[in-house]
Amino acid sequence: MIDGSEERACVFDIQRMSLHDGPGIRTNVFFKGCNLRCFWCHNPESWRREPEIQFFGLKCIGCGFCLSACPLRLHTINTEGAHVFEREKCTACGKCAAVCPSGSIVLTGRMMTIDEIIAAVSRDIPFYKKSDGGVTLSGGEPLLQGKFAINLLRVMRKHGLHTAVESALNVPEDILESAAGQADFFLADIKLVDEKRHREATGISNKRILENIVRLDSLGVEYCLRIPLIGGVNDDGEAMTEIAKFSGGLKRPKYVEFLPYHKFGEAKYITLGVERKTNLATPSKEEMRTLAGLFGGVEVRYQGSAD
Ligand code: SF4
Ligand code: SF4
Repeated sequence: MIDGSEERACVFDIQRMSLHDGPGIRTNVFFKGCNLRCFWCHNPESWRREPEIQFFGLKCIGCGFCLSACPLRLHTINTEGAHVFEREKCTACGKCAAVCPSGSIVLTGRMMTIDEIIAAVSRDIPFYKKSDGGVTLSGGEPLLQGKFAINLLRVMRKHGLHTAVESALNVPEDILESAAGQADFFLADIKLVDEKRHREATGISNKRILENIVRLDSLGVEYCLRIPLIGGVNDDGEAMTEIAKFSGGLKRPKYVEFLPYHKFGEAKYITLGVERKTNLATPSKEEMRTLAGLFGGVEVRYQGSAD
């Protein structure tokens, strides 16, 4: 084992064949745990660092296997025949998920070693070679399990894999600096420059984030700036002009990328028993083109949109 490593990290997904998270074809390793609470987040299962149960009530076929499997008897059927799950007492032991035949109960988050992750991502080495791709650590916030992530980057580099880190950068500076020393590419998220608006949207100040973007810019690692573009949050000219001005003061972003809001993650909130705000809008391509014009000579890329 490598010195100083945390032996295992909590990972909630390993997703193959991504074309959007760094150069070439990539495998994304999604770390669980995030210290922001962006209300549009499409991966709310990434928020808590520990494994947890997702309950997809509509898939339940009423077999009752989970009722006896749970040592705490947290699954019951009420007098109206509805399945009731007492989530707040759950220890995430996974016994109910193991017996559920319909996929209604899923244990999300698994403690994995570096060797297990290397084995999983190595399946796609031929695709990385053909496309100049590699592995992207994402989340959640991968740098909250910082020592593990840094050691994983180091081992992947030893294996000749191209590595990238997607981060919201609300992390200690020494962790960022060590990760930047081991990674080939960073995808650095920025949502808003105005601190008050940032707090309202994410629950935290952006002071450390903005400082860390400036720090990343000075560290020599290649990076891009990623902007989740959320209707009513940061798709107005004022917010984007501030971001464009901030990025104009940086030396090295390779490109800027808009990630327009999409609704894919909305149903997950119900499965986790988490409340969410509704009626968030997806900016159109036309709106994105207009906002991209604020960035002067910097290349602006954008993923799917409303039209
Ligand atoms: S994960 Fe364990 S404690 Fe939680 S509901 Fe399932 S069986 Fe019960
Ligand atoms: S085991 Fe799955 S399908 Fe059966 S009652 Fe429990 S949740 Fe429903």
